[in-house]
Formats: sequence, structure tokens, C-alpha cells
Amino acid sequence: MECMRCGNRSKRYFAVYQGKTVCRRCIGFTGDIADIEPNTGEVSIHLPFRLSETQRKASREIYQASLSKDVLVNAVCGAGKTELVYETIAKTLEASKTIGLAIARKQVVLQLAKRLAEAFPGIKVQAICEGHTNILDAQLFVVTTHQLYRFPQKFDFLILDEPDAFPYVGDELLEGFAKMVCRGRMIYLTATPDRKMLRRVKKQEMVEVKVNARPHGHPLPVPSIRCAPYAIQLILLKRWAMRTKGRKLVFAPTIRQAEFIARLFGWKQVSAKSKDLQERIDEFANNENGVLLCTTVLERGVTFENAQVCVVMAHHPVFNEASLVQIAGRAGRSAKYPKGEVLFLCGYTSRSCLNCMNTLLRSNKDAFSASSL
Ligand SMILES: [Zn+2]
Repeated sequence: MECMRCGNRSKRYFAVYQGKTVCRRCIGFTGDIADIEPNTGEVSIHLPFRLSETQRKASREIYQASLSKDVLVNAVCGAGKTELVYETIAKTLEASKTIGLAIARKQVVLQLAKRLAEAFPGIKVQAICEGHTNILDAQLFVVTTHQLYRFPQKFDFLILDEPDAFPYVGDELLEGFAKMVCRGRMIYLTATPDRKMLRRVKKQEMVEVKVNARPHGHPLPVPSIRCAPYAIQLILLKRWAMRTKGRKLVFAPTIRQAEFIARLFGWKQVSAKSKDLQERIDEFANNENGVLLCTTVLERGVTFENAQVCVVMAHHPVFNEASLVQIAGRAGRSAKYPKGEVLFLCGYTSRSCLNCMNTLLRSNKDAFSASSL
């Protein structure tokens, strides 16, 4: 027996209620099922900028690969992951097939739906996330992974953005939803694929399309690592903030630490607990020389022009390799300021810090050797 909504096969979740078998794993997820309108006719893509040669090549590869297998798009932070699948979206819609985008976090869903609506002017794009579930018919859906259950077996292609991010990663229920909505191919977009995905690539169950360079062509900023006791880290941080130009984004391992350091130096601070998170992010984005203390809540999905990054207590276990790669990826993203600075302050050099550094060095090396061919 398999639950049609979440794909559960484990007996312990099934129960009989009023003569009907119900799945207790997904029983809390009730709501209307969405209706996807098929597209007829041509689909044009409107972009305010030109894709780089690397991006165009990757776009074609992704579309070709998706016709026969699942695809892992392994693109460095700032490579323009979303634009890489526009061609696949356009061609899928042109073939009157269905394609959807899913991502774990609600905030990103709303931003992404707006961008897609601009890129595909002839297509009805709809965001589905908590608080936005009253319109359930459209041609292209951007959905939180929590709302995917509204699309049983509806997608020929499902693009899953950041499958390694909280809260999707390791959540069997959400993974089950994703599996049950896609009757065709999955396309995963990430800068930090986990071992499970890389194993599937190795077994040739999935095709990997790698993008090692950002559109502006400059290498990724590689962190410098400084080991020091905590009190000295704070002194080094203060000095770094004083001599560094541009926006300074400082990561601390816990909310308490972030609050403490922000109070100590009179800086602004955000965490997942902040009620006015978006306002504080906007304020920082508008302040060319600001300092913002944050937790891993800002490790992904945000772009600030001319941002420099420092991590305090970078050896803390909350900062795993993927997290540190994402954090370092906040620096040097824009074409105007392609060179960012990344500093890891730590009590000792953790394996995650070293792995992060090696991963970034390898991407830069691969990008460089590819471009000099
Ligand atoms: Zn279920």
C-alpha cells in the first residue's frame, strides 16, 4: 500500500478512520488540488540581460539531459541558477507539458514567481505558499515544498531548487510529496549537492551539469582563515569591519551570539526570530557601508551588492561545509563588484572550513582550465 499524497509505504502510519484508510503522516495536509492549464503556442523568454556563453551552453545541456534522465544542476553560488532552466521551462511549455518549480522557503517562492512572470510574459505564473493558496489554476506554478501535495502526479518535470536546504533536506514527508507530484523527470538546482545526489550521478541514474563560473567570469572569493581565542576573534572582527569597504555581513553560530556581538559593537542584527526580517534586509541593502549581524538565516537566497563576509566561530558545528560554501557565496556576486572578501574566524580549523576552502579552490581551478581550453 502506498499513500497517494506523500508516498508513504510504512504500515505504522496507516490507520482506519470511519471505515476509510488514512495516512497519518500527511493527514494534516488538506486543501484543494491545483489545476494546471496546458499551454498552446509559442513561449518567448524576456530577459533584461544576455546570458553568458557558459550559461547558454549549460541551459542547452540541461534541457537535452532532462529528456532522458533526472538532472543535477551543480552551479556555484551566484551562477544564475534560475536562468539556467528558463530554456527547459520554455520548451516544456511549448510541448504542452507541465513543469513546476518547488523550493523549501516561502520568501523565495514569492520572489521567484515574480521573476518568472517577468521572464515569461505570455504565461500565467502563480505562487503557492502559506497565505497564497486561493488561486489554484495557472500554467506555471512556483510552490513551497510544503504545498506540493496539491499537485498529485501533475508535473512532467519538477525543478527542485536547493534540495539541500532546510527544511526540505532530510524531511521524508516533503521528499515524499516531491516524489508523488512528478510523473516524469526531476531537475535539482544547487551549489552544494549532498552525498546522496552525487552517488546517484556516479551510478549514472542522474546527469550532472556543472557550472563553475559566475556570469561576470571572476573567480569565487576564497575565505582566509584566522584561528584565535574567542575574545581575540571579536577584536579581529571589529578591526575587519573598520578597515573593510562596502556592506559587511557577519555570521554568528547562534541567535544569542549574534545578539551579543551586535549589542557589543552597536550593529544591526537579524535572525529567523526577527519579525521584521525583510525590512531589516532591505535596510541593509540600502546602506552601502552597513554592518549586519546574522545567523545562517541569510546563508542562501540573498544577494547584496558589494558585500564582504565574515564568520565568527566558524568552527561551530552549525556551519557545515555546504553552509560555509553558501555563506562565502554571498561575496563578490555583482558584475560591478566581482571581488569579495571572506574571512573565517575560528577557535580551530574545522574539517568543514577546510573542505569549504578546497571546494571553492577546485571550482575556480575547473572554471579556469575550462576557459583556457
Ligand atoms: Zn501520506
